Amino acid sequence: MIPYGRQNISEADIAAVVEVLRSDWLTQGPVVPRFEEKISNYCGAKYGVAANSATSALHVACMALGLGPGGRVWTSPMTFLASANCALYCGASVDFIDIDPRTCNISVEKLANKLVNAKRTRQLPNIVIPVHLCGQSCEMDAIDALAKEFGFRVIEDASHAIGGKYRGEAIGSCKYSDVTVFSFHPVKIITSGEGGMAMTNDDCVAKAMARYRSHGVTAEPAAMQVRPVTEIWNYQQVDLGFNYRMTDIHAALGISQLERIDSLVSCRRAVAARYDDFLSDLPVHSLWQHPDTASSFHLYPIRVRESECGLSQRDVYNALRGRGVGVNLHYIPVYLHPHYEGLGFKRGYCEEAERYFHEALSLPIFPDLSEEDQLGIVNSIQVVFEGRL
Ligand SMILES: *Cc1c(COP(=O)(O)O)cnc(C)c1O
Repeated sequence: MIPYGRQNISEADIAAVVEVLRSDWLTQGPVVPRFEEKISNYCGAKYGVAANSATSALHVACMALGLGPGGRVWTSPMTFLASANCALYCGASVDFIDIDPRTCNISVEKLANKLVNAKRTRQLPNIVIPVHLCGQSCEMDAIDALAKEFGFRVIEDASHAIGGKYRGEAIGSCKYSDVTVFSFHPVKIITSGEGGMAMTNDDCVAKAMARYRSHGVTAEPAAMQVRPVTEIWNYQQVDLGFNYRMTDIHAALGISQLERIDSLVSCRRAVAARYDDFLSDLPVHSLWQHPDTASSFHLYPIRVRESECGLSQRDVYNALRGRGVGVNLHYIPVYLHPHYEGLGFKRGYCEEAERYFHEALSLPIFPDLSEEDQLGIVNSIQVVFEGRL
């Protein structure tokens, strides 16, 4: 079975990890800050705070932006659970904005309408978390304008999107947001095993995220609350934080991967361009690419409409899996998971997200997917559809 995604590990990656294993440090030592600096330079943000996952990074980002009980977070329903769970971890509530059917990112128009209503009922969100689905940026300029008008903070969930661009600038620059979060899970663009990073240009937010990542502890005399600090004991817990630290072992792998990110992303773009070309005659739809964006193509979904091709999503899924093509579904709308239904969300809440959920299938896309294998996948898709046309 050809999977929908797979990591690319080089001999240099292996050597980088082994080098850390032979060093004095295993957990957060000198390599983690080096990784933070390299990612910051790559995407043009002032600060990067590494964590043991993007989920942890989202959590500390929410905390650093002051989210707590009674707070409100809005995000996309078409995402991995972590984009919404981070709000619940803080005791805040979460709500969802339906997607734009062209890009399947949150609809700016629906966001604007919902904000107008929320202002009237005094239920404005504290934080909005746009998700750059499949590696394509949301319309950040418009979201930033709404943030200024309605007074909310913005965390970009760019777990899919390192290496992508918006209006010519690297995703992660935080030009249009308070924080941007990357994931380095193995199926993502670059990996550190498990890992994530929160980017920001705000000095205080960066310090707060670093503190929450590590038990709420500070070793900076200026941040200590009991003064004078005269003891040999030189750190204080000033907030309640967590152990969300990344290890040097993971950071070493991340740095080594970052060195070839441009080639990893261009391989993905080449795979996507070939799918665009090969699938153009078939009754399936690829995601529209907004001209302001350059996607890093974490995923390449197609939409299957039974009314157009006589085959259901399930038919195509079964037929392709039967032919060794490991298609997958991203995602079930977050609010349809039992935990969220338990919070009161009902089927039908976000129409476009539910339509996408019943049509989308992610095709295999990863840097090592050979042209030959890709032609085999396309051939299988043709056979499956031609059986019905
Ligand atoms: C993968 C993913 C996450 C979580 O990333 P982890 O590093 O596994 O915690 C969050 N949001 C989105 C959109 C993701 O795809």
